[in-house]
Amino acid sequence: MEMKMEFNGIEYEVSYRRVRYARVELKTGKLFLVLPPGNDPQALLEKHKNWISKKKKFFEECRSDSAGKQISIRTEAEFRGLVLSLVSRFALELGVTVNKVSFRKMKTKWGACFPAKRNITFNSTVRYLPDRLLEYIVFHEVAHLWERNHNRRFWNLIAEKFNDYRGFKKELASYLFRIREHDAEGK
Ligand SMILES: [Zn+2]
Repeated sequence: MEMKMEFNGIEYEVSYRRVRYARVELKTGKLFLVLPPGNDPQALLEKHKNWISKKKKFFEECRSDSAGKQISIRTEAEFRGLVLSLVSRFALELGVTVNKVSFRKMKTKWGACFPAKRNITFNSTVRYLPDRLLEYIVFHEVAHLWERNHNRRFWNLIAEKFNDYRGFKKELASYLFRIREHDAEGK
């Protein structure tokens, strides 16, 4: 059962599932609540009020920044060629081997790495990112073959190559808004 509602001006969706704990997630300006049947969404929203307003502010800033973001123009072939060459380069640098690279449209991630199979999948919308962010996404996923977890060892490696990576989260979120707008315009 799903419903659409609002909390402090943010749209939210409630989904009742057989989960042990209630949880709340905020993705690109929209709240998603997952609750065990019979739980009260209001109580969960109140409990996470501060976190929600902090996240809301972050996304509002990203949305307003998005207007100034420049979409990169690449053909599908150029994009894939670029990603594949970066994967090879970074794999060599890190001394890891990659089995398969694939591309598909993903809802919540720029990329995903499956270390057991040594496969990497990239979101096809990475195509619109500027070179530096694209490189970061590729490096991030290849680096998971070197360290699968987001631990200190992982972030130290990232920081060696991208010392400004801390700002990327916001950059990427801004681009996400920009790309959605671009997609909505129908290209
Ligand atoms: Zn990661």
